[in-house]
Amino acid sequence: MSKLIFEKSVTGRRAYLMPRLTAAEAAATATLPANLCATIPPALPEVSELDVVRHFTQLSQHNFSVDTNFYPLGSCTMKYNPRLTEKAASLDGFISGHPLLTQLNGNGTLTQGALEALWHTEQLLCELTGMDAYTTQPMAGAHGELTGLLLIAAYHRARNDKRTKVLVPDSAHGTNPASAAMAGFTVVPVATDPDGNVDLTDFKAKLSPDIAAVMLTCPSTLGLFEQHVVEMADLAHACGALLYYDGANLNALMGRARPGDLGFDVLHLNLHKTLSTPHGGGGPGSGTVGIKSALLPFLPMPVVVKNGSSFTLDTNRPQSIGRIAPLFGNFGVILRAYAYMLHLGGNGLREATDHAVLNANYLRVKLQEAFDIPYHRICMHEVLLSGERQAKKHGVRAIDFAKGLIDAGHHPPTIYFPLTVGEAIMIEPTETESKETLDTFIADLLRLATLAETNPSAFATMPETTTISRIDETRAARSPILKAAVTPQT
Ligand SMILES: *Cc1c(COP(=O)(O)O)cnc(C)c1O
Repeated sequence: MSKLIFEKSVTGRRAYLMPRLTAAEAAATATLPANLCATIPPALPEVSELDVVRHFTQLSQHNFSVDTNFYPLGSCTMKYNPRLTEKAASLDGFISGHPLLTQLNGNGTLTQGALEALWHTEQLLCELTGMDAYTTQPMAGAHGELTGLLLIAAYHRARNDKRTKVLVPDSAHGTNPASAAMAGFTVVPVATDPDGNVDLTDFKAKLSPDIAAVMLTCPSTLGLFEQHVVEMADLAHACGALLYYDGANLNALMGRARPGDLGFDVLHLNLHKTLSTPHGGGGPGSGTVGIKSALLPFLPMPVVVKNGSSFTLDTNRPQSIGRIAPLFGNFGVILRAYAYMLHLGGNGLREATDHAVLNANYLRVKLQEAFDIPYHRICMHEVLLSGERQAKKHGVRAIDFAKGLIDAGHHPPTIYFPLTVGEAIMIEPTETESKETLDTFIADLLRLATLAETNPSAFATMPETTTISRIDETRAARSPILKAAVTPQT
């Protein structure tokens, strides 16, 4: 490991020299009250500019990124995002426009371009998903879920229909039950059947007049398309409930199926997964929400509307759930999605989906003998393996494979999620990776599977190529030590 910047400190070395004080400035400083003056100099490293540049560059290289290596983190869609969309989002007219200009510029002439971009993005998303309208305000997938559930609550309230529960299959993303609870609903879990679909018997038994909504993650966190989706939609609607679609991973469906056509009333999309925007580390994102026309009155304000050839903001919406985010959400993320959709076009978006699904199935077929596969059928954009065989026979667990893959130069897949599958290893290759990259990953994972049989103790020291080897991951996340202990120099 390279030296810490404090260890490189040499007394008197400088990267920057302050201008000398004039006599007047020196005199003014001398009159500062003594009790306000520090007696010990700050404990800063004394280093040259080059030391600083090397320090931060080396730190940045400890970061794993899709710009350097394969990053098949299931459910996260860590794909390569084209630089073109960065460029579009940094156009002068977009980045130099102040968001408050829409209110200040009375006739709106200065913000027409920005409003048109928002409006047209919504139109394209309607076409892509079969919905009637969108709000681009929510700033993350989970934020979109909360928005969608508040819309559903407003819909039932307007009809004086008291419904307090939301059905959430146990194969849903973990944010679903959390968002439903946050919106004030009671969460009722639904079981999964042996094929990886929602258990229809359990579903029917739990449908009742107090169900406000059914939330479906599709593809589910098992990486599977829900085969009962149309039947579930019909049953839910017959009982007066609305259908919510978690479309965080629309890269499994674009151009092949539209949630609106499948019967969904409300959905969110993660623009930062499917539709271009690098993510990770907590943001920024966009959990844009689409609705059917029955929910139009409740949309968050303001709504961008087109009058003839100009665009305005509608704030006169008495039934609106109000604002869900300041201004327009993460405008830069929305712009990247807009540029991405215009650049790829309908056929290009369908091709992205086809490749995402093909890549995942390629991995599935190549790995299905070496690992257990909980559900033997065609998967969508990600494939779920289980390391139970290796854990039971050789004591090599999913986390050991993850660490071994780091040494091979790959980001580990998602492990121990979904919770319903033991030793889960969930791999999302994404559409942007080549066959050669997938083949290298497959070869490395198969090599590790063989190593588990022949020399399981070899995993104990992995990873060996990283700055820090095995850590207590829970403690590192919950009680991190973020500063080096230094003794101040006097
Ligand atoms: C990522 C994801 C979410 C949550 O999105 P955030 O932007 O992280 O809040 C919800 N559902 C599914 C299926 C996801 O993959």
